[in-house]
Amino acid sequence: GELGEVEARVSVCRACARLVEWREDVAHSKRKSFAGEPYWGRPIPGWGAAEPRILIAGLAPAANGGNRTGRVFTGDRSGDWLFAALHRVGLANQPTSSHAGDGLELYATRMIAAVRCAPPANKPTPDERDSCAPWFRRELELVLPTTRVIITLGKFGYDALLAGLASLGATIPKPKPAFGHAVEHELDGVTVLGCYHPSQQNTFTGKLTEEMQDAVLRRARELADV
Ligand code: SF4
Repeated sequence: GELGEVEARVSVCRACARLVEWREDVAHSKRKSFAGEPYWGRPIPGWGAAEPRILIAGLAPAANGGNRTGRVFTGDRSGDWLFAALHRVGLANQPTSSHAGDGLELYATRMIAAVRCAPPANKPTPDERDSCAPWFRRELELVLPTTRVIITLGKFGYDALLAGLASLGATIPKPKPAFGHAVEHELDGVTVLGCYHPSQQNTFTGKLTEEMQDAVLRRARELADV
């Protein structure tokens, strides 16, 4: 279908010189602990259900996570955290997300990043974000008809998501609704549900606890009726 076409087209995009260099450098040099494993080293399409009721939106893949596995939000500590939680609440068939081909599946849920290539220091430039926006917008457009809830990971992911929705014609109130953990905003028939980013900075310090993570995912299930 059209989603598959978008996935195929984005996976060969080379629009951002800095990110192309970075994603390939990391894939060639490899982190020691993954030295024996293949790296994807290309743009990361969304993955999960083709007709999701729950969308999980973040900013960008991680250099040794999604950039290695080819699946966004997998293969690093943040992915481990997230998949343990998704499994606890019944949205994933496994609690771990180690490598491509591990049989991991999501139920009624799709994951998507606003920027498709891993950026140095996890920070895309505004230009890179804008270059990638058409990919994000197109995928959003294709999955929005079935989507009831969008969980945004972190404030950057939240801002990118609101920009993506606005570009598709959604009415975003002014001033822009504030981001917060477990904060809900109803925007044109979709509930945007804030979630702190499951970065080690947040999970090690207890800013984001397992209980808080699970509560947001359970709330999403309830809102999406899955
Ligand atoms: Fe292409 Fe997006 Fe990757 Fe830039 S970040 S090279 S626009 S896929």
